[in-house]
Amino acid sequence: MAVQTVNPFTNKVVRTFDEMTDETVDMLISQSAETYSSWKNTSYTHRAKILHKVASLMRERKDDLAKTITLEMGKLIAQAEGEIMLSASIFDYYATNAEHFLADKHLDPEYGSAYVQSSPIGVIFGVEPWNFPFYQVARFSAPNVMVGNTVLVKHASMVPQCAIAIEDLFNEAGAPKGLYTNLFLSGERASELVSDKRIKGVALTGSEAAGASLATEAGKNLKKSVLELGGNDAFIILEDADIDKAVEWAVVGRINNNGECCVASKRFIAVEAIADEFLEKFKNQLANLVVGDPMDPKTELGPMSSEEAAVHIIDQIKRSTDAGATILIGGNRVDRAGAFVEPTILTDLKPGIPAYHEEIFGPVASFYRVKDEAAAIALANDSDYGLGCSIFTQDTKRGENVASQIDAGMVFINHPTWTQADLPFGGTKNSGYGRELSELGIQEFVNKKLIRIS
Ligand code: NDP
Repeated sequence: MAVQTVNPFTNKVVRTFDEMTDETVDMLISQSAETYSSWKNTSYTHRAKILHKVASLMRERKDDLAKTITLEMGKLIAQAEGEIMLSASIFDYYATNAEHFLADKHLDPEYGSAYVQSSPIGVIFGVEPWNFPFYQVARFSAPNVMVGNTVLVKHASMVPQCAIAIEDLFNEAGAPKGLYTNLFLSGERASELVSDKRIKGVALTGSEAAGASLATEAGKNLKKSVLELGGNDAFIILEDADIDKAVEWAVVGRINNNGECCVASKRFIAVEAIADEFLEKFKNQLANLVVGDPMDPKTELGPMSSEEAAVHIIDQIKRSTDAGATILIGGNRVDRAGAFVEPTILTDLKPGIPAYHEEIFGPVASFYRVKDEAAAIALANDSDYGLGCSIFTQDTKRGENVASQIDAGMVFINHPTWTQADLPFGGTKNSGYGRELSELGIQEFVNKKLIRIS
């Protein structure tokens, strides 16, 4: 895939960048390793000062940075501004809390005295996706920089200007050369790099295929990996739910970020008693979304991130209808230029139909009608993915009981799966392993060193 900005609203190439040569990549890894040898000895106060500065520069430049996101991957402009603010909050969060999270942990062993010290481990390599080009990088880089690691980032090839903007923010915030480094290279070259001895750990957010490729190399080379992959999140509506509230959140859960979100609500599972009412209201709201220019604040659904993404979604819909699924609304490209797909609802889904199993990364909702709560739980768990899940009920205790039976990394009651700096993020099953954000996220690439005194 060429490293280039293509505006998905017009499908026109805006700017092309050269991939880095092997020599340049080698030099940048050496620089990162060299910087690690001094960065690991800096104080938390020093590290925090740089990250707070990154956060404040981000907020200052919110408007321009948001426009770059929208230009490169089609996110609605207001959501792009929200992403910048969320990313800044992640930098501040780790700058403020890392010292406490990484403090020595004193033990009470049977013999002698002992404690566990949290030490950095070296150069960490992050492979990041285009769907939240600032937020994904923030949640990878902020904790690692506070640990005392240095970071190499291979960003998605379709968001090179976002990648450059983030590196510039670090440089302007006073980061030493080599603390945060972009690598412009293809996905395949990213996996090949994992065997480099100077790299000590790898993290990837993206597809299962990319995750498996990177993790295979990490395994072969005995390196720790953290993977945040796809999802096919269930959104369960029980008979005692506030239906209007559920519908409102169902629309947000499905089309936030134009539907290109790993934790988007994708499978809507309604119990029989309220299924008709939910579906009718959900259908009316999805069908009436204002589709258009993502730079226009009035737009409610923008283009997919690329023409290839739109073509892939239409192919998933076609393969599903060929196998027996029914299109309730939508199902086609929008009749205009750009990478647009109509808001779509698929029904009559069962095992064997592609939409039952595959993640659909766009404004396509799969609707299921089930007998009762037990059937809803069974269907929610009948997926290779296990990222997030939402449960709508007015009985919180009941919601918690259902949540405890769901095979997912995150369950939200009366809200779509969401993210903030102080909540752990990650999945189980094919959705990956490890956690980002919160205190858990900073403990991934750390040497938990035991120090025992006799
Ligand atoms: P990819 O997984 O291909 O892209 C994510 C990142 O991985 C990019 O930086 C990409 O680089 C890189 N990459 C690609 N192949 C490899 C590889 N073999 N080894 C190491 N890194 C690699 O996702 P796509 O953009 O192709 O999207 C495909 C699907 O993946 C989506 O429809 C969605 O289902 C899922 N996805 C999930 C995301 C999430 O948030 N969990 C985010 C993005 C995608 P490059 O851009 O150069 O190819």
